[in-house]
Amino acid sequence: MRKIMIFDTTLRDGEQSPGCSMTIQEKLRMARQLEKMGVDVLEAGFAIASEGDFQAIQTIANAMKNTSVASLARSLPRDIDRAYEAVKGGVAPRIHTFIATSDIHLQHKLRMSREQAIESAVAAVKHAKHYLSDVEFSAEDATRSDWNYLTQIVQAVIHAGATTVNIPDTVGYTTPEEYFELISHLKNTVPNIERARISVHCHNDLGMGVANSWAAIRAGADQVECTVNGIGERAGNAALEEIVMAMHTRRDKMQVECGIVTTEIARSSELLTTITGVKVQPHKAIVGANAFAHESGIHQHGMLNERTTYEIMTPESVGIRQTRLVLGKHSGKHALKDRIVEMGYEIEPDEFENIFKQFKDLCDRKKTIYDEDLEALLASKVGEENVKYRLKRFVINTGNEMTSTAVVVIDHDGEDIETVAIGDGPIDAAYQAMRKAVDAEIRLIDYKIEAVTDGGDAQGEVRLKLEINGEPISGRGVSTDIIESSIQAFLHGVNRWEQRKERQA
Ligand code: MN
Repeated sequence: MRKIMIFDTTLRDGEQSPGCSMTIQEKLRMARQLEKMGVDVLEAGFAIASEGDFQAIQTIANAMKNTSVASLARSLPRDIDRAYEAVKGGVAPRIHTFIATSDIHLQHKLRMSREQAIESAVAAVKHAKHYLSDVEFSAEDATRSDWNYLTQIVQAVIHAGATTVNIPDTVGYTTPEEYFELISHLKNTVPNIERARISVHCHNDLGMGVANSWAAIRAGADQVECTVNGIGERAGNAALEEIVMAMHTRRDKMQVECGIVTTEIARSSELLTTITGVKVQPHKAIVGANAFAHESGIHQHGMLNERTTYEIMTPESVGIRQTRLVLGKHSGKHALKDRIVEMGYEIEPDEFENIFKQFKDLCDRKKTIYDEDLEALLASKVGEENVKYRLKRFVINTGNEMTSTAVVVIDHDGEDIETVAIGDGPIDAAYQAMRKAVDAEIRLIDYKIEAVTDGGDAQGEVRLKLEINGEPISGRGVSTDIIESSIQAFLHGVNRWEQRKERQA
């Protein structure tokens, strides 16, 4: 069976989706899960784009034990130098350089001739090759490029040393038949094509990202670039879980395999959702809440007799647990620790003590603790010891015939700040009070509240978007008390902004 390499770009292309930006710690947590799931290459960012991107790539490259870590770079020497600096500590570093090849991009964006683009691409690959052996080249907007020109540039970059050549459908324009033809054309016309691996990178603007990737694999591509939950620019990228499960479920059609541990798929999807707050639609293939739900009576009847009547793959195969493990008041440290490790978290002993305390507090307020509760707790508490602002206590006075007032005490680097404010309702009053405690201009852009699980004692999870000194940042908070979760979400946003500021300094 032919091995297909899975190149995950959740932390680069995926992070470019609105609302999906992550802190270094969040990216590292996601990277650890991606490594556990078995991705072959992990594109961790675009090193030259920002100091934060650079540090995230470097941190991830140094932390990965087996996974190859790549950084994106334009075909410019300074981009490639920066990419190399970021990935060089990794076990299998890769530089991924690109230049646009379509006439539309060459004329309107790069203002370059086709010949100049080939020269730049070749120079970039050679420059990267001085540093390391694993160099990927992408012909941006390949699917709207002249096919014979693509043949020329692909031949030239392979000659210069590119070991992977990516033919991206940057704007999600191609169709399965056309893409099959294009990949076949390159296989047939590029004389040295056997010396490199063909990669594909498809966007979902017409909803065909996965179908196009599938067609390309059939034509001989052996690396697929994709993202968890299909996040990415505009309509997103081909979804990792869909292409992997298609290969897995239809091995009869396609004699290929990949190294993904499919039982880690659900976990990866959930973790990404928790980190970014961007949920998948309920009917999303493989990882949507309804992907394995059977509603109609006829279907249920069939399922009860024989699961394969309406089920082409099992929920267990993607790691969806049928039985929900619950923890509660009587669960000890071991049970909690085991569960946390199973959920893919790596936490320090001190951090664990803090989580255990928070867990016990939660048990006093809520009878059963589901995975969702634990996930929410972990997501808001892990890494918390480094934060600048922490809630100590608050008092709110509110009613329908009075002005709401809030007193909030915040610990700022070990010093208590007490502020008082009035507002339109309890949450506005609390937010006005906290604005006085933080030295920045803070605007609330979006606010959502949702119950984490079913039941009257469920925790309320608040997700919000702030604009701090003009920069957008998201925050989340969770508590059985919705005013407390609102305050926590606000502080979470402020703390994330502080972390980002430090990273850029
Ligand atoms: Mn892309």
